Amino acid sequence: GRVPLSVLGLGLMGQALAAAFLGRGHPTTVWNRTRAKAEPLAAQGAQLAWTVRDAVTAGPLVVICVSDYDTVRDILEPVSRDLSGRTLVNLTSGTSQEARETAQWVIHQGAVYLDGAIMAVPPAIGTANATVLYSGPTTAFDRHQQALSSLGSPVYVGADHGLPSLFDAAALSLVWSTLNGFLHGAALLGKAGIPATAFARLAKTGIETVADWVPGYAQQIDDGTYPATESTVNTNLTGMKHLLHESHAADINTELPELLATLAERAVAKGHGNNSYAAITEQLRHPSP
Ligand code: NDP
Repeated sequence: GRVPLSVLGLGLMGQALAAAFLGRGHPTTVWNRTRAKAEPLAAQGAQLAWTVRDAVTAGPLVVICVSDYDTVRDILEPVSRDLSGRTLVNLTSGTSQEARETAQWVIHQGAVYLDGAIMAVPPAIGTANATVLYSGPTTAFDRHQQALSSLGSPVYVGADHGLPSLFDAAALSLVWSTLNGFLHGAALLGKAGIPATAFARLAKTGIETVADWVPGYAQQIDDGTYPATESTVNTNLTGMKHLLHESHAADINTELPELLATLAERAVAKGHGNNSYAAITEQLRHPSP
């Protein structure tokens, strides 16, 4: 049979997690501070726990997903002795430092700790599109991999409990930078009376094109050499100046193109003008001047 487990925290994400476990046939006990959020899950077959202790002691696997790590500690500290011998999977978002501190505390209680980072929105949970990163002892990950695969595609990133949060931050850097590029472009075109919907297809193609450059540039970063096969930093810098000019002319915000040009100019000053765009990585490895 499927391993019995519990889900603590039934916000938008916790509800999706519990529903996915139930959908895969796991006997699932749920707890939430605000009990009303548990009721739709009861209709799907979940056991409702009245107390945190009832939830924690329901099975060998305890999954928690609440607003932040401080809340995790507030919820679990009163039942710390009940954690002993169980595996805690914490899918709450936070920093790598918080994850490592929580790991120390959980291990001190005699429990096994897996930290996780969910790289998906609640509606994607339970589908192959939901990637969830995990860290901690491989033995614990292997033991619970089947249960965790109820949530989506589990990816083990290492023993260091801080790694899922770190990968999450790195991926979010990408999300926000890409989105700001799109939003800036839309603002520029908007000033010319062109709706964002008329830009959407070109923007999507642009993002997909850049996505194809990632593996090659990753190799260049690791090698520390940046041979330009498509375009040089110099060529890109010329384009950035056009973007800056257009942004000034349209009287829109210029912070994003200014940042891009500043980094590229510094790379050129360090002798990378004829290297590929990936050479700019060297400007990002040190604190801002
Ligand atoms: P919600 O705001 O919907 O839910 C927050 C949850 O935390 C609720 O269960 C809430 O309980 C609980 N909570 C907050 N404070 C306390 C407290 N002091 N004591 C007890 N329980 C508390 O957030 P989400 O479910 O969307 O997010 C949960 C985690 O998942 C976050 O770390 C988030 O970053 C992460 N995540 C979310 C994604 C998303 O798209 N939603 C995507 C990836 C990660 P109550 O119902 O009683 O308020």
